[in-house]
Amino acid sequence: MARFKVRWGRLFGMFLVAGLLAGGVKLFTAELPAAPAHARAVPDLKALPEVEVCWLELSRSDVWGQLGTAGLTRTGTWRNTASGLLVRHPQGDVLIDAGYSPNVHEEVKQRPPLARFFNESALKGIRDRSTLAAAFQKVGATPEGLKWFIPSHAHLDHLGGMVELRQVPVLLPAEEKALIEGWRTRKEVFPEHAQAVEGRMTAMAFEPRPYENFDESFDVFGDGAVVVARIPGHTPGSIATFVNLSPERRLVHVGDTVNLVESVERRLPKSTLLQFFTDTDSEAARDQVARLSQLHELAPELQFLPAHDRDAWEKFFGSAPGCVKAR
Ligand SMILES: [Zn+2]
Repeated sequence: MARFKVRWGRLFGMFLVAGLLAGGVKLFTAELPAAPAHARAVPDLKALPEVEVCWLELSRSDVWGQLGTAGLTRTGTWRNTASGLLVRHPQGDVLIDAGYSPNVHEEVKQRPPLARFFNESALKGIRDRSTLAAAFQKVGATPEGLKWFIPSHAHLDHLGGMVELRQVPVLLPAEEKALIEGWRTRKEVFPEHAQAVEGRMTAMAFEPRPYENFDESFDVFGDGAVVVARIPGHTPGSIATFVNLSPERRLVHVGDTVNLVESVERRLPKSTLLQFFTDTDSEAARDQVARLSQLHELAPELQFLPAHDRDAWEKFFGSAPGCVKAR
């Protein structure tokens, strides 16, 4: 009988080399395929109302740049922010995102072990925390002026702050409303946050009206100042929110579909680690990155605002939180 001797050391070495090679190749081939060609529906921005937009910073941290995008990122340090975007419109104020809950350290203790580990690691480095009330005050506004709260998506660092604002009506896509209402079985949403907004959520009525490179859109005030498009993937009801101050001064808040503007410039998805831990559907999210990248090419005047890219917020607002008008 022939004897076959397994050389474990050699086998392990072969696997190690293969793994390193695969990882190395992945670093240099992270660029996504281009999104399918799509005509641009240029928005009509001739009759915009006078709108002001304000940056409410709720906490910040410094993160290793390589966690920001897949592939070899050019960002050494990812200057991370958790911020609210306040739009002051003649018909009432709108707040996009609300940061962490003031009780976040207690809330994460109730999470399943892997989620708890991930959340607690992310919370370790955060500093300069502010309540929503204090952040409003800093820019001369109050939460009482809010007509709507619009979450870019329902994760803890975007919805959590709503435990402070239990009266404000919430406007969001039907998919994200369903995600929040399903918190007992869908673990993406914290029970405390779902309960804080329960009973006062309204689903956005998207219309088949093309906007930029999207086939449908929802215009919050009906005047072109604040327009929402769907970018499902990071969560089922993730959104991109356009705020138009003037034809030249425009931004699009893209939530956590990308972490850094570099992602839309180089068509790179988020890091593999953050795709794994934070995306509901990473493949769909990557398609949305390609679409946002296409939008960046079609509308170069548009400032992209990934929720956590402090450099991008600084580019639009200046080095500290404050407000910006059309002129
Ligand atoms: Zn986030």
